[in-house]
Amino acid sequence: MAATRRPVAVVTGASSGIGAATARALIKEGYTVIGGARRIDRVRRVVGESGVAMELDVTDESSVKRFVADVGKRFGRIDVLVNNAGGALGLDPLERAKDEDWIGMWQVNVLGLMFVTRACLPLLRKAKVGHIVNVGSIAGFETYKGGAGYTAVKHAVRAISRTLRLELNGEPIRVTEIAPGLVETEFSIVRFKGDKTAAKNVYAGLKPLTADDVADCILFAVTRPPHVDIDEIVVRPVAQATTFQVTRKT
Ligand code: NAP
Repeated sequence: MAATRRPVAVVTGASSGIGAATARALIKEGYTVIGGARRIDRVRRVVGESGVAMELDVTDESSVKRFVADVGKRFGRIDVLVNNAGGALGLDPLERAKDEDWIGMWQVNVLGLMFVTRACLPLLRKAKVGHIVNVGSIAGFETYKGGAGYTAVKHAVRAISRTLRLELNGEPIRVTEIAPGLVETEFSIVRFKGDKTAAKNVYAGLKPLTADDVADCILFAVTRPPHVDIDEIVVRPVAQATTFQVTRKT
């Protein structure tokens, strides 16, 4: 096992967007970062020589177990777990909801987060102070037309974060939820299944958050003194008052 005094951070979904920006920010801050995602080559490019890239499909429990066993063997503990892998599929009203979209969203955002957290807890307990950061969304406490599938899973992430805080009370493990509004990443390209024009329209006429803006919030939360738990950070573009009330300059 590599002895490391550097804090060890696991970031899921480190191949793109918020996860990639968070991995870079943590590396810059002096963390040893283990980035996981299905597109391993992209994770390698993100973490470079300073981090570790490992293949991870959070929806596949055997992949999660392999990933966490490898982290355990190499580092013996996890100081920070960033549950970031996730996203939306489709924007259909409920009466036209596609089963495969709902199942896919449930698998990655909820079951995936549970598989990873459950497997990582023994290693988080090996750290002096452990920290679980769940990337939720303003969709975790707001709703919008066509968003029932995504808002339901992000409401679930919020419920899980709050439950974990109860279950881990008394242990030195902090739980933070980061709830962003509109962030320009590959999120909308995935939601609209590769339709780049539909994806671009989501951010048209406004200045959305960048992945770095969100990584900055995550960095703030994890670098507080050990007795301080940042429960939640809600962060949105100034032009966005709610999920659906957005001012656009035409
Ligand atoms: P993104 O650019 O599409 O990144 C999503 C990341 O999740 C990718 O790295 C992807 O990696 C990973 N991922 C997806 N399925 C996975 C799986 N089965 N196993 C492992 N990794 C998987 O989108 P993003 O905006 O950065 O999204 C990151 C998180 O922020 C998500 O939880 C999303 O719901 C949340 N969020 C986004 C916004 C926004 O407006 N963008 C707002 C609020 C919250 P691979 O495809 O390589 O596996």
